[in-house]
Amino acid sequence: MGSIRLEQLSKSFGEHAVIPSIDLEINDGEFVVFVGPSGCGKSTLLRLIAGLEDASGGRILIDGKDETATPPAQRGLAMVFQSYALYPHMSVRSNIGFPLKMAKMDPAEIVRKVEDAARILNLGDYLDRKPGQLSGGQRQRVAIGRAIVRSPRCFLFDEPLSNLDAALRVAMRLEITELHHKLGATSIYVTHDQVEAMTMADKIVVLNKGRIEQVGSPLDLYRRPANIFVAGFIGSPK
Ligand code: ADP
Ligand code: MG
Repeated sequence: MGSIRLEQLSKSFGEHAVIPSIDLEINDGEFVVFVGPSGCGKSTLLRLIAGLEDASGGRILIDGKDETATPPAQRGLAMVFQSYALYPHMSVRSNIGFPLKMAKMDPAEIVRKVEDAARILNLGDYLDRKPGQLSGGQRQRVAIGRAIVRSPRCFLFDEPLSNLDAALRVAMRLEITELHHKLGATSIYVTHDQVEAMTMADKIVVLNKGRIEQVGSPLDLYRRPANIFVAGFIGSPK
């Protein structure tokens, strides 16, 4: 569960065709990274998949079913935002459980799900703290916890590490890919950072001006960049 197929997916804001037309296949369980320079349409593409933006044309199929018009909460996907999207006045417990409370889940079930997520993320001892009493890495884990509790078929990450310092970024990359394997879900991870893409991805999608320049494994892109843009961006010889 968690395959995604984009068919001639497009998005315009007024006259500006941010995404002219994208076709892409994402397999169940894959860790896919969308990488490209700032402003190339990465967030817009992720938001289209999440249902936070309406498509101007084309289709989004999730596990073979057309979900183009499905509201975000019913797509079975969970978006991980940067850690500053936490509620500062609420405990870690309430932050992680928030989406379940919104979904009117039984309170005892919420407790169980939150504690399971906290265990996976090593946050068990911090459930009663407020975000302000946590380190940057712990805050990021709470943001991930809020996605995990919904048991999504796919995680959508939009530059989740960009406000962390360099050393922590390296550690969190490892944590995120490890978690991805542990949970067995599909992940789509957006970044402008080539190193992040090359070290985390099973499959990299290189975007430029709303178009796909190349799709391939990190090794494919390094050994056989499709064009000068990819070679320059990935930093490989061509
Ligand atoms: P990235 O995430 O790769 O930096 P974005 O998807 O945020 O790029 O933006 C791609 C382009 O779409 C940019 O030119 C941006 O200004 C434009 N854009 C994004 N969202 C909107 C919006 N809501 N209204 C108008 N233009 C937008
Ligand atoms: Mg962006």
